[in-house]
Amino acid sequence: MKSCKEVAQLIASGENLGFFEKVSVKMHFIICKGCRRYHEQQELIVKEIKERHDRKISKIQKTSSEVEAKVLENLKKD
Ligand SMILES: [Zn+2]
Repeated sequence: MKSCKEVAQLIASGENLGFFEKVSVKMHFIICKGCRRYHEQQELIVKEIKERHDRKISKIQKTSSEVEAKVLENLKKD
């Protein structure tokens, strides 16, 4: 079983995980709520950035601060 640190590093490395890495990360999520939440936040950020990129919005600084605000808002919901 991977440690939280290893899982965080895998998530931070991006989307190009191998099959076994993906499986071990998913196994970790089953037992570790902290990493699961961290991953959900990461996905939210990636999704937001992609959506905005698709709309060809070039003001990246504005986008990232908006995403940050959204993530903070999301964290407060719990
Ligand atoms: Zn963990």
